[in-house]
Amino acid sequence: MKYIIITGGVMSGLGKGITCASIGVLLENKGFSVTAIKIDPYINVDAGTMNPFQHGEVFVLKDGGEVDLDLGNYERFLNVELTRDNNLTTGKIYQEVINKERAGDYLGKTVQIIPHITDKIKKKIRTVAKESGADICLIEIGGTVGDIESMPFLEAVRQLHSEEAEEDVFFAHVTLVPTDPQGEQKTKPTQHSVKELRELGLHPDCIVARCSKPLSDDIKSKIALFCDVTKEAVISANDAEDIYEVPLMLDRGMLTYYLLNKINLTPKTDLHEWEKLVIKMNSATKTTRIAVVGKYLEVKDSYLSIREALKHAAIHNNCKVDVEWVDAEDIERDGAESLLGDVAGILVPGGFGQRGTQGKIEAITYARENDVPFLGLCLGMQLAVIEFARNVAGIVDAGSGEFRDDFDNKKGVSAASCTSCDPGYVAGNFVIDILPEQEDLTDMGGTMRLGDYTTMLMEDTLAARIYQAKEIVERHRHRYEVNPDYVDTLKDHGLVFSGIDKENPRRMEVIELPEHRFFIACQAHPEFKSRPIKPAPLFREFVRAALES
Ligand code: GLN
Repeated sequence: MKYIIITGGVMSGLGKGITCASIGVLLENKGFSVTAIKIDPYINVDAGTMNPFQHGEVFVLKDGGEVDLDLGNYERFLNVELTRDNNLTTGKIYQEVINKERAGDYLGKTVQIIPHITDKIKKKIRTVAKESGADICLIEIGGTVGDIESMPFLEAVRQLHSEEAEEDVFFAHVTLVPTDPQGEQKTKPTQHSVKELRELGLHPDCIVARCSKPLSDDIKSKIALFCDVTKEAVISANDAEDIYEVPLMLDRGMLTYYLLNKINLTPKTDLHEWEKLVIKMNSATKTTRIAVVGKYLEVKDSYLSIREALKHAAIHNNCKVDVEWVDAEDIERDGAESLLGDVAGILVPGGFGQRGTQGKIEAITYARENDVPFLGLCLGMQLAVIEFARNVAGIVDAGSGEFRDDFDNKKGVSAASCTSCDPGYVAGNFVIDILPEQEDLTDMGGTMRLGDYTTMLMEDTLAARIYQAKEIVERHRHRYEVNPDYVDTLKDHGLVFSGIDKENPRRMEVIELPEHRFFIACQAHPEFKSRPIKPAPLFREFVRAALES
């Protein structure tokens, strides 16, 4: 097993994750199978409880693992499906060590960071690597060297390095080379961060330097000298137009051959799949405008997988997607028409909590009434059902059990600001609610339904035509469902339930409106399975419909 360890210095947000995933692409293109582990030095056991405002989107894996969004990047770049074990956190490691200590398994010893925590980290890394069956395991250590939280992980990989053969462990360090106001590239931050790394007993085999323009030859030599690497080990990672260009940039910097040589592997093949993809992406001439109506818009990465899935769909349709991020609360204030009047498609993504739901419902009404292509995901589907119930089926106080406590479902405003409602008024028609059988799902963090589930698609529906399949598997992350008590009424008014859960036919998975040009929504999150070369079918057809509208 070969281990490639990616650390970062100077500051966060330099693109370690993309660097890691890009190295994986280059290795796959040379015929090697790759797996990847993301280490997050925070104390949270997983990312499930983390607020997208702070941390960007929570990515969901097939086994229901709620993980850091970098694992989404790995899955999109690499030919792999990962599991929750591919995400290690301080919380997870300490929890296991403490449980073991409580069980008396340390036989009275003093339990310490070295060796007990570091041993656990190494054991986890080796197990994941081995069980994946891959040739190469990429390990990205979150944060920057020098962070207190990262120390046990850096110490663990130092030990791993000394325990494994020299050619089996490779360290790549991602740093920043800023340009000063005179246009000169500065190497000092890189020097300092490498110094810090070396104080921890780690020596980089290569330095990936993030910079606004390619590193000059002189600067490469200077970094090589001060950081004790050869010049060919200094790779320029200048700003790219698109993240999918990064593997090609690293390859042009000769990283692939340098790396393979260092870890003593000879290329098995020479594929150019990724290059073809980027050429296709860059050759699009048409553009379509899609509105994503959400509420976590201040954080660029809150809807990362949706943004990427739209991009994949665009590549497939030979177009570019111009995403208009629309704040649902702005719609509540200014009306749907003024904010959505010039878009070719409307997407309402998943979400939690009542805030912004009224604006999303208005966006859905606008899409439905004006024949604008619409795609609803998870909460987006639940709100589409509420919208239909209220405005088509005449259930004027339709709402969701999720907002029972703080929401007047009739008006779509918070009970506190609803002057016409009795204080504490709760609407009765929860067309979206928790199924009684849902209580059984006592997974970590409550009653969420997480990960892969199989949906049966009804014949002769848009869903079946899009997927070209009778059964599909998509990833889920939700608690609420269409309330089965209302399904017949909604059907009578023309809502088509085109997908139902395979195990429990009381769960509605996909809805659509046959009279509409393109109106479909699903309880799952198809964005999590979308890949550049294999776009999610619903996104692919949604973008096509927008392009044609
Ligand atoms: N809040 C909704 C639920 O729990 C939708 C979740 C989501 O959109 N991911 O069911």
